[in-house]
Amino acid sequence: TIGMLAIDEKGNISGACTTSGMAYKLHGRIGDSPIIGAGLYVDNEVGGATSTGVGEEVVRNVGSFLVVELMRQGYTPEAACKEAVMRIIKKKPETAKNIQVGFLAINKKGEYGAYAIQQGFSYAVCNAEKQDLLIKGKSYY
Ligand code: ASP
Repeated sequence: TIGMLAIDEKGNISGACTTSGMAYKLHGRIGDSPIIGAGLYVDNEVGGATSTGVGEEVVRNVGSFLVVELMRQGYTPEAACKEAVMRIIKKKPETAKNIQVGFLAINKKGEYGAYAIQQGFSYAVCNAEKQDLLIKGKSYY
């Protein structure tokens, strides 16, 4: 999945995501990406979130919606992403050892953050001055 979140100079937030799906997926499988609230969710009053990884686990936790709701309660983007990841790990600790799920989020102040189960989840940030930053996302393992 490629997930994108953007905020403009007025603080309006938007998001999009694409997916390649999963290898060897069942015919007719629908992952998290096309389901609003799972692979992507934006509430212009709060922020936006998107996910990558094993979509079944994200759908079960309504992951991107959860991240946005946590930010509504005051979590920073990174803390909200971490909590969403921790819920997946707590529910299925053995499964979580062998799968990747990562979340990326931005809030109304333009603060952003990410968190994943496994290492290797990095993301890029670009601002109006066209400064690109490649950030190594934090992870549980
Ligand atoms: N989240 C996608 C899916 O489960 C997989 C991906 O990360 O591209 O369909």
